[in-house]
Amino acid sequence: MTHQEEGQPVTSLSGRELAADIRTRTAARAAVLAAMGRAPRLAVVTATADEASAWYVRQLASAAAKAGIACDVTDLIPAETEEPEATAARIEAALTALSGEPALHGIILQTPLPGGARLAELAAAIDPAKDVDGANPLSLGRLMTGQPAFAPATAEAVLRLLDHYEIALEGQHAVVVGRSAVVGKPVAHLLLDRNATVTICHSRTPDLAAVTSQADVLVVAAGRAGLIGPEHVAPGATVIDVGTNATAEGGLAGDVDPKVAVVAGALSPVPGGLGPVTTAVLLSHVADAAAANGQLR
Ligand code: NAP
Repeated sequence: MTHQEEGQPVTSLSGRELAADIRTRTAARAAVLAAMGRAPRLAVVTATADEASAWYVRQLASAAAKAGIACDVTDLIPAETEEPEATAARIEAALTALSGEPALHGIILQTPLPGGARLAELAAAIDPAKDVDGANPLSLGRLMTGQPAFAPATAEAVLRLLDHYEIALEGQHAVVVGRSAVVGKPVAHLLLDRNATVTICHSRTPDLAAVTSQADVLVVAAGRAGLIGPEHVAPGATVIDVGTNATAEGGLAGDVDPKVAVVAGALSPVPGGLGPVTTAVLLSHVADAAAANGQLR
């Protein structure tokens, strides 16, 4: 019997209200910081002419404006004739220079990167105190060992969304699909920190449904549209869809088939679920960084 046949409709875990709340609080803090001469400022470095990335940067700049955070975009998109190594060196130099700017509190390096460039290597040039999207490997290491660090905004947003809807985690079985350093691994760690029993799946997991259908809380971050269907989900489970996949129609699809709503107890929509919360968390990190004034806390 499905969850809905049992008479309980799926809860849609919209992130819009939570995102607006985080933004309002951030705007209030930004105003106080500005009055102290420490107006929060974010730098975004882009290095490829990617349409989805350009869309995201526009969204981020608009959300930053609403939250009272200045947002500078540094465009390092290489000329067609340029060697990828030259671009990587320029990105690294730019990140090092921005890290040394006292009036700048947060730095993010947009992906995708030019061919051959690796996020973890380049992001090592971001000062951890300004690493508001937790991209520097030092940040992940610090996070995993309980030291002060910024978590990747997406990973933290998953926890914020679960908390907003009062989804219990302690003692629950949480399954994460995806093991990237920016989403899967930090989400798994944050869930573990909250005393969930955590299983991580990836592309070599032989029978994905056998594992995911054991989850009380299922977090999907694979970047494969429609990967998770109703057969992957236990009746009543909470499902967080991190995936953002461009559709042929120019829209956005998650990793979770919307039909999962028939089985799940709660499901985050795409768009309008995790995305707005991620942006809001990122901006709140910029205010945190400005408040910490160059220190990690
Ligand atoms: P990624 O680096 O490509 O990692 C994808 C992960 O999914 C990998 O660990 C991969 O396994 C696993 N995977 C791929 N196909 C699979 C399959 N068929 N079965 C099981 N596991 C599979 O991607 P990412 O950066 O983590 O991002 C994941 C998704 O989240 C993307 O859609 C991205 O756009 C989205 N995202 C959303 C936000 C947001 O704010 N909403 C922010 C960041 C990212 P292997 O390790 O074995 O290859």
